[in-house]
Amino acid sequence: MEDVCKKNQASCSCQTAQTITLFMNILTFDVEEWALAKAGGYGSAEKYAEYDAFLNQILDLLDSRGIKATCFCTGLMAKDFPQVVKLIWCRGHEIGCHSNQHTWMNKMTEAEAREDTHAAVTALEQCIGQKVLSYRAPAFSIGDSNKWMFEILANEGIQNDSSVFPAARDFGGFPAFQSQVPCTIKYAGIELKEYPISMTSFMGKQVAYSGGGYFRFFPLSFVCGRMAKSEYTMCYFHINDLLPEKGGVPSKAEYEEYYKEAGTLKNRYMRYIKTNLGKSGAWNKLEKLIKKEAFIKINQANESIDWANSPIVKL
Ligand SMILES: [Zn+2]
Repeated sequence: MEDVCKKNQASCSCQTAQTITLFMNILTFDVEEWALAKAGGYGSAEKYAEYDAFLNQILDLLDSRGIKATCFCTGLMAKDFPQVVKLIWCRGHEIGCHSNQHTWMNKMTEAEAREDTHAAVTALEQCIGQKVLSYRAPAFSIGDSNKWMFEILANEGIQNDSSVFPAARDFGGFPAFQSQVPCTIKYAGIELKEYPISMTSFMGKQVAYSGGGYFRFFPLSFVCGRMAKSEYTMCYFHINDLLPEKGGVPSKAEYEEYYKEAGTLKNRYMRYIKTNLGKSGAWNKLEKLIKKEAFIKINQANESIDWANSPIVKL
């Protein structure tokens, strides 16, 4: 496994110079399902095997196109399911950090966020034996109220962040953020490269289109049309976005435990609809997207961007 791992990691970095053009599509996955199932009490050997099989299906699809992605994994994935994180790493993809337990960062105090980030980065680095350089907060939960997260990330040695959703959204967003393309954040004496989520104008609103529920909602032709017009597109997926199985409406207690807000009937049904919208055709759509477009991972993008002439965002 070690040899295959070294070979895959080495070969992907040499592709960088050839594959990058002015237009850049970055492919990312957030990997958390196994650990969430375990913590939520619905984990089972069958459930984990289902996730394993689906992950392999994704990795095979990426291999068929020679595409490497950045996979943001939670710290608990590294602790409780290290074989999953190692498999992704050994197949040449970048391992990034996606918090420790997948609690929204804007629901934590600064001290809790520091502890969570340190635990996650440490677990992931121990798992793959390499420094983790990229980060994404669960539900893009870094905004104006908790921008101290950038200082915490820099102190953990994180160099690239992809947590900024530069528009309003449920559970946060960062509408005041000044860039929709890769930029350098300067805050409290630290610097960090930011890869924001891509936005488009739709019916007078700024919305995402290249990942999660938005990707499931829009026709593929719409997504590809926007990508063709954009110099930079950040695509992001969860395995759960792509599995056809539909979860039930969460109970009041489940909702409040997970989302940390009132589990009213309206909130619970809205979440159910948003979580399940378009799931049945999602895998098919992803397959077509991967076969049609070229993608790179964040550490490949890093090498091709002219950072000296990219926007600087002072917070
Ligand atoms: Zn997530």
